[in-house]
Amino acid sequence: MGKAKKKFPYNVRRKALLWSARHCCLCRKQCGLDIELHHIDPTLDLPHLNAIDNAIPVCYECHSKLEFSLLNSPRGSKFSQREIKETRDQIYEEKTRHLVPVIMYGPTNDFTFPQVRFCITNTDGTLNVRVRCKVEIYVSGKLFGTPTRHYSGDHLWVCNPGLTVSGWFDLANPAKLKKRSAYSGVPPHEASGKKLRLRVHLTIIDVFEREHERIPVTWYFSWEKQEWVYDP
Ligand SMILES: [Zn+2]
Repeated sequence: MGKAKKKFPYNVRRKALLWSARHCCLCRKQCGLDIELHHIDPTLDLPHLNAIDNAIPVCYECHSKLEFSLLNSPRGSKFSQREIKETRDQIYEEKTRHLVPVIMYGPTNDFTFPQVRFCITNTDGTLNVRVRCKVEIYVSGKLFGTPTRHYSGDHLWVCNPGLTVSGWFDLANPAKLKKRSAYSGVPPHEASGKKLRLRVHLTIIDVFEREHERIPVTWYFSWEKQEWVYDP
């Protein structure tokens, strides 16, 4: 691997320094100008070698220790690559979580089945974020697929402060649903009496373009009450 190739591109450097607020991601020291980016796994090929997941901002001292620990010295307890990444992500989270507003989201019950209304609300007064939302439809425990476009996980919703963004999808419209080829059960709008669930994956993207994933959550459809119920 030539030295010239082993350099993080500007946007990777920029994000890593913003996300860490220029703190060393091992000893947590605020470094100001005295910070460097270390390649966590120097054996990777491009483009993974210079990807943001392979970078960790560190102070000079910790950088030397990390380089030293690659030399297989018998002394001390080496960092595993996983530990380095988890420690780094913890610092990134700590230094960016003030950029993440409380987001309320989920299906609402003001449309009639099989149409589903879906809302995302940014309850904060100042924080601009974008949100990626992926809704998975499960029938009797089997993944049917996802609604297209805004609910497929590819589309970014702009969520300005105080704004509720809403949309809807139709469980009976095959043109608006992306069905998994492996799915062989009944379609969701004909699932009456069966278990019908929406599993929602939400990722909040802050102004520094860091992604904050929420734990996926589920709503099931109560056929009796004809409404979506949050399932903790
Ligand atoms: Zn350090």
